[in-house]
Amino acid sequence: MPAQRVRAGDKRLINCGAVDVNQLMPLKYTWAWEHYQNALSNHWVPSEVPMARDIETWRTGRLSDAERLMVMRNLGFFATAESLVANNAVLAIFRFVTNAECRQYLLRQAFEEAVHTHAFHYIVQSLGLDEGEVFNMYREVPAIGAKDEFEMELTADVLRPDFDTGTPEGAQRFLDNLIGYYVIMEGIFFYSGFAMVLSLHSRNRMTGIGEQFQYILRDETIHLNFGVDLINGIREENPEVWTPAFQRRTAERIDRAVLLEAAYARDALPGGVLGLSPEAFDAYVRHVADRRLERIGLPAAYRAPNPFPWMSETIDLPKEKNFFESRVTEYRSNATLRWE
Ligand code: FE
Ligand code: MN
Repeated sequence: MPAQRVRAGDKRLINCGAVDVNQLMPLKYTWAWEHYQNALSNHWVPSEVPMARDIETWRTGRLSDAERLMVMRNLGFFATAESLVANNAVLAIFRFVTNAECRQYLLRQAFEEAVHTHAFHYIVQSLGLDEGEVFNMYREVPAIGAKDEFEMELTADVLRPDFDTGTPEGAQRFLDNLIGYYVIMEGIFFYSGFAMVLSLHSRNRMTGIGEQFQYILRDETIHLNFGVDLINGIREENPEVWTPAFQRRTAERIDRAVLLEAAYARDALPGGVLGLSPEAFDAYVRHVADRRLERIGLPAAYRAPNPFPWMSETIDLPKEKNFFESRVTEYRSNATLRWE
């Protein structure tokens, strides 16, 4: 007699003992498969984005010192952050998510994080920046180091050999990790960085970096959507871990993140640049944090108006942009294999 077949209803996001984690079908979490499909249609490659105008703008000193500092602090934060997100996805999240369709998405996300890290390599090379300065900035600039340490603590806990999501404390610590990476790192820390570069882009400065950030932002939007679905799915399947004390702890962690982000914005823009003041960033980070709190079922805490309404327009726009149709490349024809 064949072994009994899997029913979709037996699948669980974590702690699944009933189903082999390698069985993709029958699908249960169709949202994970949809995020995977959406990610496929967003494919892009950093080195195809033209950087000639950025190189000219950068070398001919057309940016103010404040704008140059903002760009450097921005690159310094993202260059490391993308690697931290990739490591956490592969080493910590992949291990404890016991579901094949979610793992399928995580594999795609891991590739995208590699593409994003590649973008920072490409930008540093194109502009002839000091690579040591950019890629070591998390050790040299305290406002960046503080954000990275905040995240790395959450990875370290899950990587301890005795870590187990089978206890309520373990499941909560795993949720801390998911919230710390998807909601805080990709959902809050990344957004002031996006706003900095996209505001330059809207003034026609550093448009090659700006275009790459549009693609990164589009990818990150799906990472955030997947993360929120995963967190809310685990909450639904394990309601006993979503205690009032855990909710308070989560809101406090997000509050700590908001302070870290405000400190980073002050460090990157000490006197502000055109249209971007440190005060506006304070408000923006609080506005974004409220939207994230709401998505995981927690009340908004800050009620700050959005000082950058153009950011929500930018977020909706890039969906229309097809990387392959907007440039002449041979990708599609090269994808056909020939056997000779
Ligand atoms: Fe990324
Ligand atoms: Mn990401």
